Amino acid sequence: MRPVSEIPYQVRVSRRAKYARLRMSPHDGLIVVVPKGFDVRKVPGMVESRREWIEKVQNSFERKRVSGVSDTGQALPSKLELSGIGESWCVTYRSQESKGVSVREISADVLAVTGQIHDDELCRKALEMWLKRRAAFKLSPQLERLAAIHGFSFSSVSIRKQRSRWGSCSSRGTISLNLKLIFLPPLLVRYIMLHELCHTRHMNHSARFWSEVGRFDPDYAAHDREMRHAWRFVPGWFASKS
Ligand SMILES: [Zn+2]
Repeated sequence: MRPVSEIPYQVRVSRRAKYARLRMSPHDGLIVVVPKGFDVRKVPGMVESRREWIEKVQNSFERKRVSGVSDTGQALPSKLELSGIGESWCVTYRSQESKGVSVREISADVLAVTGQIHDDELCRKALEMWLKRRAAFKLSPQLERLAAIHGFSFSSVSIRKQRSRWGSCSSRGTISLNLKLIFLPPLLVRYIMLHELCHTRHMNHSARFWSEVGRFDPDYAAHDREMRHAWRFVPGWFASKS
């Protein structure tokens, strides 16, 4: 049997805490957050009972520190550069005993990822869900504005993470945009939106379709060429799985 080591921790009294809980971050280590009036003599036992979880999280921090990458080989982002919607977010990670992982906006440009953060897959999924909400909030109105300015109409828009298409338009006028557009330069996002809007008038890639696109985006040919290489704008942690 290996000797059982003491687990270092700090105790923090929180006015808002309703019950005691453990929190871990690579920077601060283990913090026991307790409500006001909590009997601190209970803390060592509480920490000991959670030893397995604490060591698991510590090991994952250590692995990341050594390799700089996560278990999946793609580092989770500390920054999200969302050129497509003109935003840039810092991402902080904090381990907390809870089911799953949640993502919250804690200020105008800081996201907090909390929960089972040693599970990369859960973090990736939670970030993806947040990106989807953000994209719907910003890209959808952008498409509506473009349509209004140029006199297009479409029935609805959906934003989905897709592997091989940047956008599509159905015969019913439903436009679908790839979530990955959020990482692309704004001019390319605009091009894709115009391209799909023009499909509401021409359901093909005929000469008439392209001349329609050219009316709204004179550089459409260059933008269309750039789209072939636009996958490089999508960060690895996000691109790897669809
Ligand atoms: Zn097309």
